Amino acid sequence: MKIKFFTHKLFLFSMMFAYVFSCQYSQNKSQTNSPKKLNTLNKMKKTEAEWKRILTDQEYKILREKGTERAFMGKYDGHFEEGIYECAGCGSQLFHSETKYRSGCGWPAFYDAIPGAVEESDDNTLGMNRIEITCSKCDGHLGHVFNDGPDPTGLRYCINSVSMDFQSSINKK
Ligand SMILES: [Zn+2]
Repeated sequence: MKIKFFTHKLFLFSMMFAYVFSCQYSQNKSQTNSPKKLNTLNKMKKTEAEWKRILTDQEYKILREKGTERAFMGKYDGHFEEGIYECAGCGSQLFHSETKYRSGCGWPAFYDAIPGAVEESDDNTLGMNRIEITCSKCDGHLGHVFNDGPDPTGLRYCINSVSMDFQSSINKK
């Protein structure tokens, strides 16, 4: 009886903890969401026909149809110049070269994104639970984020090369 009471208490306690934690989490989330709300006002909206005209077939397939380029085949996988990676759809700045690292996963990997540049959403396709990353401005599909990245964030933004254009900072010096 005593044990039962104890487990009941433990259950209540863990529920309370989960509740507090989820509140804190949503609070943090809404805080980080505030710059994103501004972005919603500046969203680039185009019809699929317009996107088809602007983008190459490969860009359209990945950015608009959420495709994935073949592993180790992307042009930025082993690319480590100094500069900024921009969205291939709208030119919005997404990642700094200093956050890029060799993950060995076969796609360009970053441990952080430029604040407000990307949005996250649940992706339960292909029998996996992943977090999809899209461009905040044009909603173009970029890749996924995983929590097996290096310090300081512990994140791995795994991004298709096709979804990005690179602007070297060396030329501007
Ligand atoms: Zn974009």
